[in-house]
Amino acid sequence: MTEQTQRRRRKNPAVDGPLAVYRGVWVYIEVNEGVIAPVSLELLGEGRKLADKLEVDLAGVLIGDHVRHLAKQVFEYGADLCYLAEDPIFEKYRSETYMKVVVDLCEKYKPEIFLYGATPTGKDLASAVATDLKTGLTADTTILDVDVETRLLEASRPAFGGNIMATILCKNHRPQMATVRPKVMQAMEPDPERDGKIIEETFDIREDDLKTRVLEIVKNVKRTVKMEEADIIVAGGKGLKDEKGFELVHRLAETLGATVGASRDAVEAGWIGHEHQVGQTGVTVTPKIYFAIGISGAIQHLVGMQNSRMIIAINNDPDAPIFQAAHYGIVGDAFEIVPRLIEAFDRALHGEEVVEVG
Ligand SMILES: Cc1cc2nc3c(=O)[nH]c(=O)nc-3n(C[C@H](O)[C@H](O)[C@H](O)COP(=O)(O)OP(=O)(O)OC[C@H]3O[C@@H](n4cnc5c(N)ncnc54)[C@H](O)[C@@H]3O)c2cc1C
Repeated sequence: MTEQTQRRRRKNPAVDGPLAVYRGVWVYIEVNEGVIAPVSLELLGEGRKLADKLEVDLAGVLIGDHVRHLAKQVFEYGADLCYLAEDPIFEKYRSETYMKVVVDLCEKYKPEIFLYGATPTGKDLASAVATDLKTGLTADTTILDVDVETRLLEASRPAFGGNIMATILCKNHRPQMATVRPKVMQAMEPDPERDGKIIEETFDIREDDLKTRVLEIVKNVKRTVKMEEADIIVAGGKGLKDEKGFELVHRLAETLGATVGASRDAVEAGWIGHEHQVGQTGVTVTPKIYFAIGISGAIQHLVGMQNSRMIIAINNDPDAPIFQAAHYGIVGDAFEIVPRLIEAFDRALHGEEVVEVG
């Protein structure tokens, strides 16, 4: 070990200071209607990598009523341990009860890293826990890594309007916490042979002592678009000029059986609903094919679609940043190219000869 490394380690409270008792990577396992949220499985995949680097256990934190059987899945997706709090009082999510469980578990078992899905529940729980434990929380992280020497979690996310990527450290408090949006990280292939240890804890929480009661859960029926699950997305931006121009996006999507996406500018122009917005303040998507039509490729848009398997960009500006992210680029006028694509795909899908599109 060099002298410099020794000095760095000596100075680090996580290595030989008061934070050295905190060890292990934890993931909050969100359960909706008896099913583990996909983002929790994705975080187990990412958590596994961090835990391996730090040479510690990966644990899932499972709270609910009749959820014990889900621990098997938590192990199959990478965890070594599963902290379980099972009681009818936990049947429905409440900040009050779930926060108490997580805070008590953290105080007792002292994890060094704790990851949550950036879902409405995950965000609510993580912020309540961070406040109670007086630790830091990085929201909407897009990249996670860890410095094995200092044991610091490096949580990166777009900052200052998306113009830079900021890497945020939590040097003096534990656990180091982050929320991550669905579809940003990758779940491991489940291994049915994997097993782990359940650590069950009981909590003395009485209904009469609680301030909140869940009377009914009303689903938002307006949101019918499942952007996150789409295999093909045809997304349009400001380059389509107006609502009539944006019709081309709908027509190409219809031809391909695809879902329609949009940039924020197209949404703000009122051409399509916000539920179709892709990006930092919209949804994160990873389809097999993503068409970006008349979209410049601002960082706030890119963070929501750059992990798509194949990106095809159509833009009349050869220097548009979207071409940096695209696997295939067509430089030209969308009003000429898209109708020809519609025609070509229409023919191809009906078994006829495909025409060349420039
Ligand atoms: C805090 C914050 C959060 C944000 N969140 C999001 C988000 O979630 N999602 C998002 O998308 N944006 C978001 N933005 C906005 C983002 O910065 C951009 O302003 C936006 O993505 C631009 O949309 P656009 O690409 O449709 O429009 P523009 O940037 O105006 O690009 C239009 C493109 O169309 C091309 N074009 C013009 N005419 C044609 C034609 N005839 N044929 C082909 N191409 C043509 C142009 O060359 C240009 O590249 C956010 C911004 C901030 C500050």
